[in-house]
Amino acid sequence: MSDIAKPTADGICVICGTKCRTSRYVRTPLGPTIAIAECRICGHVFQCPHFDKSYADDFFNEAYAPGHENTYFDPQLKLKHASALYDAFHSKCPSARRVLEIGGGLGAFSSVLVANGHDVVSTEMSETGVRRAKELFGLNMHLGPVDTLPPCPAFDAIIMWDVIEHLPQPDVVIETAAARLKPGGWFTVTTGNYESASRFSGGDTWWCWAADHYHYFSPGTLKRLVERLGFTDFHYDRVIRISVPTDGTAAAPHPNPLRFLNPFHLARSINTHTRERLARWRWPDHWDIGVMLATMQKAPAGDVR
Ligand SMILES: [Zn+2]
Repeated sequence: MSDIAKPTADGICVICGTKCRTSRYVRTPLGPTIAIAECRICGHVFQCPHFDKSYADDFFNEAYAPGHENTYFDPQLKLKHASALYDAFHSKCPSARRVLEIGGGLGAFSSVLVANGHDVVSTEMSETGVRRAKELFGLNMHLGPVDTLPPCPAFDAIIMWDVIEHLPQPDVVIETAAARLKPGGWFTVTTGNYESASRFSGGDTWWCWAADHYHYFSPGTLKRLVERLGFTDFHYDRVIRISVPTDGTAAAPHPNPLRFLNPFHLARSINTHTRERLARWRWPDHWDIGVMLATMQKAPAGDVR
């Protein structure tokens, strides 16, 4: 498999249907180079064409395997993060008892839901993830996409934590999920915010650029997508993450106290500062939200398009 995206004919914007072309390439922090399009009509940013899907399959089977202590995929840190996220979920969806989690990963959040008395169904695409969730938390997650979930009673809430950017066709998955949601039920997602200072000043080093991230949403593009799919009352907030190293290495050594005298360091600092100010001016409502927690509700029966 090449580490550079191959061209295909697929370039339709998932938000507004406009045919788009690759406008630039990004060498992602983990190595592969991805092709990016920015829709000239709605501004949505997405991979065009999509990177080879087998990259994502291999990545998660490896990431969910044992041996990732002190990294983003450490089950105990996932559990800690899930507990903090649960408080946010509960405050936004206070009466949700029956919950569907799409993309349960290692099962940390679903296990927190179970511990808090919720009736939980969880789906996961990675066989390793499903196996580990059983070992770690005793969870029986459904292996496969949400459209293969057996019939069951409708849900009060559906959650997708850091999943929507991984979906080649998020509109299709959201529509399938919405059919499982009660009228007035909550749909909540977390994802990186393209219109943030961290993206604008990070350039190609932005943490969210990845070969398995096909879509890069902003509050505006996400709102437009879900409203087209029959959701109302869109809100967004920030996600507080527990900081962990991404590769298991020890923290960097203490920086040189004289680094401010280095002209390259000085130039980079000025550039970052300028870009942060620009981001603040362009997106005054969400420039400082690196990861957004978006919440919306399925339109009451009769109001669905
Ligand atoms: Zn568009």
